[in-house]
Amino acid sequence: MPRYPHKISKSRFVSGAQCQKKLYFDLFRRDLKPPVSAQQQALFDTGHEIGHLAQQVFPGGIDLSPKTYYDFSDAIDQTREVIHKDQQTIYEAAFYHEEVLAALDILHHENGERWAIEVKSSTTVKDYHLQDAALQYWVMQQSGFSPDKFFLMHINNAYVKQGPIDPKALFTLSDITAQVKEMQAWVTEQLPNLKSLQANQEPDISIGKHCADPFECDYKQHCWKHIPSKDSVFDLKNARGREWDLYSKGILHLSNVPDGYNLTPNQQLQIDGVKYEKSHIDERNIASFVEVLTYPIYYFDFETINSAIPILDGTKPFQQVPFQYSLHRVNAPGESAEHTAFLANPLDFTEKGGADPLKSLINQLKTDFQQKGTILAYNAVFEKTVLKALATAYPEDADFINQLTERFIDLMDVFKEGWYYTPAMQGSYSIKYVLPALFPELSYDNLAIGNGTDASNTFLSMILGSFTGNETLTRKQLLQYCEQDTYAMVLLHKELIRVGYQSDEDE
Ligand code: SF4
Repeated sequence: MPRYPHKISKSRFVSGAQCQKKLYFDLFRRDLKPPVSAQQQALFDTGHEIGHLAQQVFPGGIDLSPKTYYDFSDAIDQTREVIHKDQQTIYEAAFYHEEVLAALDILHHENGERWAIEVKSSTTVKDYHLQDAALQYWVMQQSGFSPDKFFLMHINNAYVKQGPIDPKALFTLSDITAQVKEMQAWVTEQLPNLKSLQANQEPDISIGKHCADPFECDYKQHCWKHIPSKDSVFDLKNARGREWDLYSKGILHLSNVPDGYNLTPNQQLQIDGVKYEKSHIDERNIASFVEVLTYPIYYFDFETINSAIPILDGTKPFQQVPFQYSLHRVNAPGESAEHTAFLANPLDFTEKGGADPLKSLINQLKTDFQQKGTILAYNAVFEKTVLKALATAYPEDADFINQLTERFIDLMDVFKEGWYYTPAMQGSYSIKYVLPALFPELSYDNLAIGNGTDASNTFLSMILGSFTGNETLTRKQLLQYCEQDTYAMVLLHKELIRVGYQSDEDE
């Protein structure tokens, strides 16, 4: 049994501020919590790496991390001791007051002032960061160690890596002392309710907007059991509050949305699809879209990593840095598509690499693209943004890259505008829904790597050396996934040609 047993910590406090039932589950029903996903694990790993880098901004500190995260007793006693011995910097300093624990990322003393510093891997200060910091301030104050200043140390998104990471330039210190002090009355008000939670008294709290604000709650599977798994009012696209309005009226399924309910045109398509299995095909607009495309037509897709800590020189935190592309090309109407692909060597993103991976990518783009012809992408703004960053980083190739950027047309527009809609798209214009809706034999569910986040995390783990699978096989899976995205565009375009041709015949 710990000498200082705690019921509330900063993460539990933020959980309780979102929803007391969520904190109740955290405390007494952890069996309901789904296992940590690969994506969550990747975020935790990044958080740890950022924490270590942040310590280098205040070097030479003593690390009081506990041996186990269930018992901070030694860390609490040692913190008190080393503060009294005038230790300038402490990592993971721990404070305690009446069942509430505060474990602070960095405690630093500067010019006679005591600074409390919390490290976050975001680029801005968010409301829940302030809640977390306000609790820590409260515990520090109650235990007799009030900080003079409270800072949030977060990522500086203007930082451009050149050589080894410079922690002082990578992070920004935001002084949040005034906000945190202002929130003390609120903390005092919240704590008794949170501390009084008992194992045999599950709070009676209904689902609401709080289930996704500020975080998607881990317990949705439990609390949202009564919501239909498909075509519920929460599947209404761009609902903007309509979902909660319908829910408050006791309507759970889209088939029960009353006629005449205020909907956008695309939402009406979705409801008509669910209620009457109605499709909508606007042949005229599709024909106009298809007409402006010029051959050879390129179907193009990038995969990127966007690491909080930039990996390549010349890149910024969270910048979308391409490591792969897939390209299908159709030279003339009716001809079959040719495929090419680029997949970088992860070693080239490290000091062990023999080549600049972005330069290799640009060189292959030069081989793969001729000077004319439409480039189709799905959500083209993404590909154009990545290319613009490449043009800035490689001015000698800017002319070539910029003329590519000008040739893009967005295939997604057809589906986003609602010109082509079938009920199987479930209100979505994402290619992950549109492709299987029109070509059911081609789904992303059957792929080992089936979405961009998995592709990105996989390649990043290869760069960072944490990848444990079969690299040859995984490279094949990465290539397969990206190829499917551009092959999907070839098929969708063919279908649009068929519809557009029909429109000509109808006239
Ligand atoms: S799903 Fe919603 S109601 Fe249930 S615990 Fe989470 S936030 Fe609370």
